[in-house]
Amino acid sequence: MYNLAAVLGFPVSHSLSHKIHNFWLRKTGTNGHYISLEVAPSTLPYTLEVLPRLGFAGVNVTIPLKQSVLPLTDSMSDLVRRVGASNMLTFTKAGIRADNTDVYGFTWNIMQQIPKWRPGRAAVLGAGGAARAIIVALQEGGAHSVFVANRTRERADAMASTLGGDINVVDWKDRHEMLQGCDTLVNATSLGMHGNSPLNLVLDDLPEDAVVSDIVYSPLYTPLLASAKARGNRTVDGLGMLLHQAVPAFEAWFGTRPAVDRELRELVLST
Ligand code: NAP
Repeated sequence: MYNLAAVLGFPVSHSLSHKIHNFWLRKTGTNGHYISLEVAPSTLPYTLEVLPRLGFAGVNVTIPLKQSVLPLTDSMSDLVRRVGASNMLTFTKAGIRADNTDVYGFTWNIMQQIPKWRPGRAAVLGAGGAARAIIVALQEGGAHSVFVANRTRERADAMASTLGGDINVVDWKDRHEMLQGCDTLVNATSLGMHGNSPLNLVLDDLPEDAVVSDIVYSPLYTPLLASAKARGNRTVDGLGMLLHQAVPAFEAWFGTRPAVDRELRELVLST
């Protein structure tokens, strides 16, 4: 059997998914190929009609298609419903099924490095697409409470009311004090990414045993992670989330569960 899969995005040139999946295809000796396809939102319905007929097993979906894809699917997981976005579609005999593996990717990235991690009381910066998946992951992982600060407060308020559960929205200017008593801190904004402004966050109130995760992975070692590490916090970089979110997709489409290992990290970092 020769399976095909792809990542759809607009633009798609930034995506590293083809590197990850083609590495695993080679490593596991699996017959198949994974490609990047630039798909404008207007051509998404046509693309999703054609790809299954061409023999594709499924696709990843990235910005800006993660939400617009939903009405084009035939079924979706509970996680997709909760997050309101999908990053993985599988073409089945019963139609297109939508899943969300960002939730899995966030959790397993931390669990691989800190197996005993529990979210506890969590602080999240950001209220974009990634933050939504991360908050659902924290809730699924048993967080007692989640505190969220976002530059645009209304966006955080709207997110909190659609996600439900114990989510406390804090003004952006009060983000530093929000860290008091937190067990987990996550930067889910694009601040700190190459080409963007740095994240201005005073860590004085963050307990020293808190776990700090930054989902920005370019640079890999963000200033937030450097400051957290310097004061004794355990840190988790964002590259692993990208790698782990690909695991369930590869398994579903190519039939083998792949490993996230040092060789894969080095390959992706070298690009
Ligand atoms: P998004 O939906 O565009 O959200 C961007 C977030 O960053 C919003 O909360 C936005 O606040 C905030 N932000 C942007 N500029 C800001 C500024 N100057 N000051 C304060 N806040 C600012 O993007 P996303 O999809 O959530 O992605 C966010 C980041 O996560 C990106 O860097 C992306 O590359 C990364 N990411 C990583 C992974 C991974 O696997 N590691 C997965 C997904 C995303 P406003 O609401 O106020 O605009």
